Amino acid sequence: MAGRLAGLDIGGTNIRAEALGPGAAERLGARRSDRPDSMAGIVEAICQMVRGMEEALAEPVAALGVGCAGLVDRSGVVVTSPNIPAIADFPLHSMLTERLQRPVVVENDATAALRGEMEGGAAAGVADGLLVTFGTGIGAALLLDGKIRRGAHGLAGEAGHMIVAPDGPECLCGRRGCWEQLASGEALGRAAREAAGAGKAPALRDRAAGRIETLRGEHVGELATAGDPVARRLLREFSSWVALGLNNLILVLSPEVIVLGGGLSELGEVFLAPVRDALSEIFVEQDRRPSVEVRQARHGDRAGVIGAAHLARDTFGGPELHGASGRVR
Ligand SMILES: [Zn+2]
Repeated sequence: MAGRLAGLDIGGTNIRAEALGPGAAERLGARRSDRPDSMAGIVEAICQMVRGMEEALAEPVAALGVGCAGLVDRSGVVVTSPNIPAIADFPLHSMLTERLQRPVVVENDATAALRGEMEGGAAAGVADGLLVTFGTGIGAALLLDGKIRRGAHGLAGEAGHMIVAPDGPECLCGRRGCWEQLASGEALGRAAREAAGAGKAPALRDRAAGRIETLRGEHVGELATAGDPVARRLLREFSSWVALGLNNLILVLSPEVIVLGGGLSELGEVFLAPVRDALSEIFVEQDRRPSVEVRQARHGDRAGVIGAAHLARDTFGGPELHGASGRVR
């Protein structure tokens, strides 16, 4: 297959794209931070981004891989996407194929990120691993016996909606106590806002310059790094929820490696170290089971586009794609 392969990532707030090719030291990236709210608008934006990259490269995009937040079935329909409310039963695969007249593969965004981390990233060479993303919600993707596993209908990996506290906070899915209500970046941000609002977190209140509603999980990470005792305590309590869900996944799937991705993972060891500590406390039969390595995702917010392009190559063939290193213009 001649030409580039494009990877796209449709998230809660933006759409990213990269065109990857063989041996290219420089790849072309594009980003729209004004993600349209309608399904037709999202399709139109993707078509514009692909055509824009083709013009800039003077080379065709031969095939596309697309990762989308939400439940994506095996036929490339986005069944639902809680962070993109306009999406329901969105036939993304057929709409893009029709508009662009070239091969398209559509996957869940966590699956695309896992495929990206398998290329020179934190899941390279791993046979049994999980990628769990901690951002607005929690996403997960499974690598078992050396293969990405999607389950019946392609809907595996919805770990964010495992119920871990039946009396916990309400979730967008309509139930209570889903893991992502207690262990996502949004959950950590909410804990920070509550503590600051109750007058129990002076440093967080200062960080927000009086606008407590702007506090996010990343701010807790920042202040914990700087040694603030309240931020450290919030992060420790939060990490025990993260570890509880990871422990459930470990018991069911027995991975050798868990890769933590999403916005919170970019905090690095400030996030990973308390998660490892909490996991070692909760992890059963530690003396008899091999330990599980918890690693930070390596490709950051580019994992999804790298992985989506590789999923297109896995599906339709094409040249060896340049690895994950190299400059993006
Ligand atoms: Zn839920």
